[in-house]
Amino acid sequence: MLLVGNGNLITQDSRLPLIEDGCVAIEDGLIAEVGATADLQRRHPAAQFVNARGRVIMPGLVNTHMHLYSTFARGMALKDEAPENFLEILKRLWWRLDKALTLEDVYLSAMVAMIDCVKNGTTTIFDHHSSPGAVTGSLLRIAEAARQAGVRSCLCYEVTDREGAEIADQSIEENREFLAHCKQSEDPLVRGLFGLHASFTLSDQTLARCARVAAELDAGFHVHVAEGEADVAQCEREHGKRVVERLHDLGILGSKTIAAHCVHVNSVEIDLLRGSKTNVIHNPESNMANAVGSAPVLEMMRRGVRVGLGTDGYTTDMFESLKVANMLQKHQTGRSDAGWTEAPAMLFSGNAAIASECFGSPVGKLIPGALADVIVVDYDPPTPLRGANIASHILFGVSGRSVITTIIGGRIVMEDRKLLEIDEQEVMAKARVSVEKLWQRF
Ligand SMILES: [Zn+2]
Repeated sequence: MLLVGNGNLITQDSRLPLIEDGCVAIEDGLIAEVGATADLQRRHPAAQFVNARGRVIMPGLVNTHMHLYSTFARGMALKDEAPENFLEILKRLWWRLDKALTLEDVYLSAMVAMIDCVKNGTTTIFDHHSSPGAVTGSLLRIAEAARQAGVRSCLCYEVTDREGAEIADQSIEENREFLAHCKQSEDPLVRGLFGLHASFTLSDQTLARCARVAAELDAGFHVHVAEGEADVAQCEREHGKRVVERLHDLGILGSKTIAAHCVHVNSVEIDLLRGSKTNVIHNPESNMANAVGSAPVLEMMRRGVRVGLGTDGYTTDMFESLKVANMLQKHQTGRSDAGWTEAPAMLFSGNAAIASECFGSPVGKLIPGALADVIVVDYDPPTPLRGANIASHILFGVSGRSVITTIIGGRIVMEDRKLLEIDEQEVMAKARVSVEKLWQRF
């Protein structure tokens, strides 16, 4: 048994949100008990003890939309002038970069990004992967990185028609094989979804085929939805309907499906998202940086759509994303009260619920029976910390760099800012060599 105690325990359980001098007991990868430190230590004298030294103990964070490979674009310069719009960013940066990736790049970029996740307290990620030059086996390489880094991961490969029929076939097979692998391995750390790029790069025929394969495997989808206006315009022009309507008609929506972005959705589409129980993921930093607009997340949440929070590869720090989600709503609506409750709800309720359903056990809460993903945060509140003001303390007092210890599935992957099982310097050195070659091929 492992005890993590002597800290302000934030449970994210509304029945008992805060335990002062609290402790969490972990056994077999799950939370066994939560309570007072003295009580749990007395009853489990032989347990290993991680001392939070008066700091904050809380659930690890979940990122429901990520692109691990995007880490390898950091610092990269395009040869000509900067892209002016989202479609140009895709064509001139991301679709060229993902095509140049080798399986080794896929593995190393995943390792680098997952190390970053661990250091920022992000313990569960939903990745959306693309490497058209190295499709087959790419998800197994990311899963290998997930197991080494210890990061709980739900993976998928994005199917698209933009690289031709052969790559589309390989991509469908990659999803099929990986989903079969997940079923067979029953590894609590790794799960799969069926990946789709976006409506505007997928034909009706390919989408219908993907829907058939995913139904056979009882899998949901992870897909970009109405991120830019170009996606909507193309859909209306070619298919005579809006993006969400098209995906609905082709059987892509549903309670297991993750619809990233949903920036340009109208009232009818919001009804379809709610009615189908589709999960919408808000990516505030990415949307702002790509200048695609601001998703109507407040309206979606008010109308009962489940909304989670992702980063789209922009960062691995969910605390940062939380801050931006909060500010964006105020900026967008011109109301200083907008986003206060919704931004924390996306991260601590929406993401937790999505991950819990995907991994089959509670995630994102420190309650008995939950997956034991726990972080210790170096935060000593200068003002009273109470059950009712936790979100405000997290919003203004904590960043990813505040995380000192990360435990995933009961395994201590980082303690006092040191990774226990990975040689970080060695991984970074290998990554830099790999990136040099990748940038030359780009
Ligand atoms: Zn994305």
